[in-house]
Amino acid sequence: MAMIDNPTLMIAIATSSAALMLTLLIGWFNARADNYLGNWAVGMGFVVIALVALGLRQGPYDANMIMLSFAALLTGMAFILAGCTQFRLGAVRRAPLFALWLIAVTAMGVPFLLGYSGLGTIVLNLGCATFMLLSGYQFFAGRQESRVLMGSGAVIFAMTALSFVACAGVLISEGTMILTAPPANWAENFNSIMAIAGLSGLGAISLTINQARATRRHRQEAQTDSLTGLLNRRAIFDRFGIGPLPTGSAVLMFDIDHFKQINDRYGHAAGDAVIHHFGAMLRVNVRAEDAVARLGGEEFCAVLLAQPIEAARQVAESIRVDFEAHPTRSLSQMIAATVSVGVATSGPGETFSSVLNRADDALYRAKSDGRNQVMTLAGRNIA
Ligand code: GH3
Ligand code: MG
Ligand code: MG
Repeated sequence: MAMIDNPTLMIAIATSSAALMLTLLIGWFNARADNYLGNWAVGMGFVVIALVALGLRQGPYDANMIMLSFAALLTGMAFILAGCTQFRLGAVRRAPLFALWLIAVTAMGVPFLLGYSGLGTIVLNLGCATFMLLSGYQFFAGRQESRVLMGSGAVIFAMTALSFVACAGVLISEGTMILTAPPANWAENFNSIMAIAGLSGLGAISLTINQARATRRHRQEAQTDSLTGLLNRRAIFDRFGIGPLPTGSAVLMFDIDHFKQINDRYGHAAGDAVIHHFGAMLRVNVRAEDAVARLGGEEFCAVLLAQPIEAARQVAESIRVDFEAHPTRSLSQMIAATVSVGVATSGPGETFSSVLNRADDALYRAKSDGRNQVMTLAGRNIA
C-alpha cells in the first residue's frame, strides 16, 4: 500500500505545529495573564524544531542528531504539560516537572550514547506517552468547566499517548535495540496521524475554551463594582429590572451617614475604605442567595427574596448595628461611621424599581428622623 513517507508526514506535522504555535503566541500577546498560552507556544516551538530536524534529515542514520531532536521533542512535551497544568490550576510547580523532564531526557539519551538507538527510541516514545497522558489528565480533571471540550481534549491526549505506546510496543516486540534507519511501521503511521489530528483538535479546543473564559471574565467584570466586589447598579437592574419582583420580597436601601464629612476629614481614599468595609459587612450579613449591590457613591441596596418585612427589618438592623460597632481601619486611623436604612417589600405584581423607590422613601425618613436607624415601608397591599 502506498503511504506518504515519514519525512513528508513529519514536515506536515511541523507545519501545522508552527501554525498553531503562532496562533497561541498571538493569543498570549493579547492576554499576557494567560501564561499557559505562552508555555504551549514554547512547547510547540520545541516540537517544530524536533520535527523539522527529523523530517529534513538526509543520508545515513545519525544517532547523535536524532538524540538531540528527541531531547527537543521531550522538552516541548514538558512545556505542553506545564501549559496544561496552568490551564487548569492557574499555576504549575516547576520542580517536579523539571525532575520528570530530566529523568526522561537522561533515560532516552544514555542508551543513545551507549549505541542502543533502538532502546533510546523506545524510551523516547514512553516518555512522550507519559507527558501526553499527564497533559490529558489535566484536561480530564478540569472537565467540569466544559465537559465536551475538556473531555475531547483529554481523549485526544490519551489517544496520542496510546500511539506513542504502540510505537514503543512494536520496537519492544521486535526486540530492536539498535536502529540503523528510522522505524517505519503501522504504529509510526498511527502516531503521525494522531499528531496531525490531535494538534489541530487541541488547538481549536484550547483556543475555544480560552475565548469562553475571556468572555465570562468580561461579563463578570461588567457586572461587578470594582471597589467592593458587589454587583453594580447595572447588574442589579439586569437581574430584577424586568418584570415584577416576586411578591413579599424585601428591598433594603442603605446610605452612609454624613459621608461628605468623612471624605473632607480623612480624604477620599479613606472614604473609599469605608465604602469597601461597609460592602464587606453587608455581604456577610445576608444569605448567599440574596443580591447585594453598590448603586453608586455610598449607596447600597440588597434584595432579599421571600422575606417578610419584619425579618427584613431585623436583617437591616443587624447590619446597622454591626457597622456602628466596627469602625473602618484606614492606614493607622479608625474611622467611625453609621448608616441609615430604608426597607420596603413588594406587593403583588410590583416592579423592582417601584419597591426600590419606596425603600428610598423610607430611607429619606430615616435620614430626616436623625440617621443611624432603619425605617420600613410595607408593600401597598401587605401593610
Ligand atoms: P447623608 O447623611 O445625608 O447621607 O449625608 P452625606 O454626606 O452622606 O450626603 P451625600 O449622600 O449627598 O454625599 C455623598 C458623598 O459621597 C458625595 C461624594 O463626594 C461622595 N462620593 C461619591 N462617590 C464616592 C466614592 O466612590 N468614593 C468616595 N470616597 N466618596 C464618594
Ligand atoms: Mg448618598
Ligand atoms: Mg450619605
